[in-house]
Amino acid sequence: MFDAILLDMDGVLFHGERPLPRADEFLQKIRRMPHLFITNNPTLAPDQVVAKFVRIGLPKPEPEQILTSAQATADWLAKQKPGFGYYAVGAVGLHQALCEVGLEDPLHADFVVVGEGPGLDFATLTRGINLIVKQGARLVATNPDINVDASVEGVHCLVPGGGALVAPFAVASGVEPVIIGKPNPLMFDMAMRRLGCQPEHCLMVGDRPDTDIAGAAALGMRTALVRTGRFLPGDTWPEGLVKPDWDVENLQHLRHFIQL
Ligand SMILES: [Mg+2]
Repeated sequence: MFDAILLDMDGVLFHGERPLPRADEFLQKIRRMPHLFITNNPTLAPDQVVAKFVRIGLPKPEPEQILTSAQATADWLAKQKPGFGYYAVGAVGLHQALCEVGLEDPLHADFVVVGEGPGLDFATLTRGINLIVKQGARLVATNPDINVDASVEGVHCLVPGGGALVAPFAVASGVEPVIIGKPNPLMFDMAMRRLGCQPEHCLMVGDRPDTDIAGAAALGMRTALVRTGRFLPGDTWPEGLVKPDWDVENLQHLRHFIQL
C-alpha cells in the first residue's frame, strides 16, 4: 500500500516515558519497511531518542531513523549560509545538531536559534535581540508548538514549546521568526530525501491535526491520525484543517485499515 512510513513519536508511540499499547507490535510489523521517526521535539539528540526507545521497551531504531526539528533546522541553516555562525537558546539536541554544521558565535552570529528547554532568561533574550536588531541576525525557531507535554518528577505537565519561547525574541526585536518544524514542508522534504521516497508513496502517522496531518497532506502524502495524543476520540475536527485519509482511535485500528 505504501513504500515508506513516517511516524511522529509523542502521542503516537509513547506518552513521556510510557509506551502506548500496541506500539511495540506496530513497530515489529513495519520493521522491514523503510520508516523514519519525525519529531518537532528539538531537545534530544538522535542517540538519546534511540536510548529512550530501548529504555521503555520499544524496538531499537538506528540513529539515522530519527529526524528532529533541531536537525532539520541545522540542515536549513547550512543551506542558507554554509559554515554559519549561530547563537542558540535551547537544550542539548539543538546545540549538538547546530555544532555539526555551524560555528557557535555569540558575538557575530548570523542566526539566533531558539529551541525548547531551559535557557531563556533576561541575559539570553538581551543578547539575542541585540544580535537581531543591531547586527541583522535572522531569528529562527525549531518548531511552532505553543506548549508540549512533559513529565516533571514523574508528574505529567505542560511546558512551553518552541513557539512560545521564540515569542519574546520576536516581540522584543520586532521581527517574525522563520519556523522550521512540522507543519513546515522542509522537515517532510528532508525525511523524503533520507528515505529516497516520493511523498505520494509515503504514509505519515501523527496525533496532531495542525502539524503532523496538515504538513504531510500539503506535500501530497497519505495521512493517518491516531487519537492517542493531543487529539482524543470524540474531539471535533478543527475547522479549516485538512482531514486525514484515516482517522482512527489507535495504532491497532490503523493496522486493520491499512492491512498491515
Ligand atoms: Mg505528537
